[in-house]
Amino acid sequence: MARLGSWIESHPEGIYVRPADAWIDPTQPKAKALVTHGHSDHARGGHSAVLATPETLAIMECRYGPQHGQPIAYGDSIRVGEVDVSFVPAGHVLGSAQIVLEHKGEKVVVSGDYKRRPDPTCACFVPVPCDIFITEATFGLPVFRHPETGSEIDRLLHRLHSDPSRCVLVGAYALGKAQRIITELRERGHHDPIYFHGAIERLNQLYESFGVELGELRHTASATKQEMAGHVVICPPGALNDRWSRRLPDPVTAMASGWMRIRQRARQRNVELPLVISDHADWDELTMTIRELEPTEVWITHGREEALKHWCMTHQIKACELNLVGYEDEDD
Ligand SMILES: [Zn+2]
Ligand SMILES: [Zn+2]
Repeated sequence: MARLGSWIESHPEGIYVRPADAWIDPTQPKAKALVTHGHSDHARGGHSAVLATPETLAIMECRYGPQHGQPIAYGDSIRVGEVDVSFVPAGHVLGSAQIVLEHKGEKVVVSGDYKRRPDPTCACFVPVPCDIFITEATFGLPVFRHPETGSEIDRLLHRLHSDPSRCVLVGAYALGKAQRIITELRERGHHDPIYFHGAIERLNQLYESFGVELGELRHTASATKQEMAGHVVICPPGALNDRWSRRLPDPVTAMASGWMRIRQRARQRNVELPLVISDHADWDELTMTIRELEPTEVWITHGREEALKHWCMTHQIKACELNLVGYEDEDD
């Protein structure tokens, strides 16, 4: 009998699904790409054909211009070569999907990046029992346990209200994290205008065009220092320490990322208020998901594979590492 999943090949530039003649999240231009979500390490430009959710295609067009895209809505199933393919919510960012592949009675789920906690900007992760679960492991160490999102947002608001002469400047990845911070603030009852750096304007508009309500937003370029005092300002992480921030009223520098769990990372960026808010599964979410799906095999990609592999083995699940390169996970 052939090895389980022998029709799926792992290459440095991505996962190749042989009977579909298609690549998943390839890091090099390919004839046919199945793309899990819009972060630039997963969604590159230059493919001849792209199959992705309508939201992901819109994000790719926003970044790379027109795509030869085929939109596949959540839950729709299509035949690609000899493989049945469907896209299922991954709960990571707007439009993010797990890719479900079925071929000759075997079911393989490629998680892409995912998380299990609720996120007001995107559909919740849907568990799909399978034979092989190909999982990310960005935070695949027991030390990574993300706190409740609400308590991190409350810390932000507490800091904001403690000194109305200052603003709180939050560094957040432009796709996904920035919009999530805004909506989480709204859910915690913060309805004041939120100021944003120009680099996230188009993605804010794209989220709104898909029905995500962000409330009143204002561009920092059209505001005075005084107007921004006592307000939240959102910028991409790269702008936290650059000249641009000098125009802000004595900013408290914050950053929203799963990596803020590591003090040294916060110090490197001169972050005064580290917020541990992640769009990736933490250790408990990774192991809970594997328990729930009960796969025969787990294949582990970009991240700290070793600890999760060991966990699988102690739970009688066959596991291996895939050596893919080029997935940075700057997105968190
Ligand atoms: Zn991502
Ligand atoms: Zn990733």
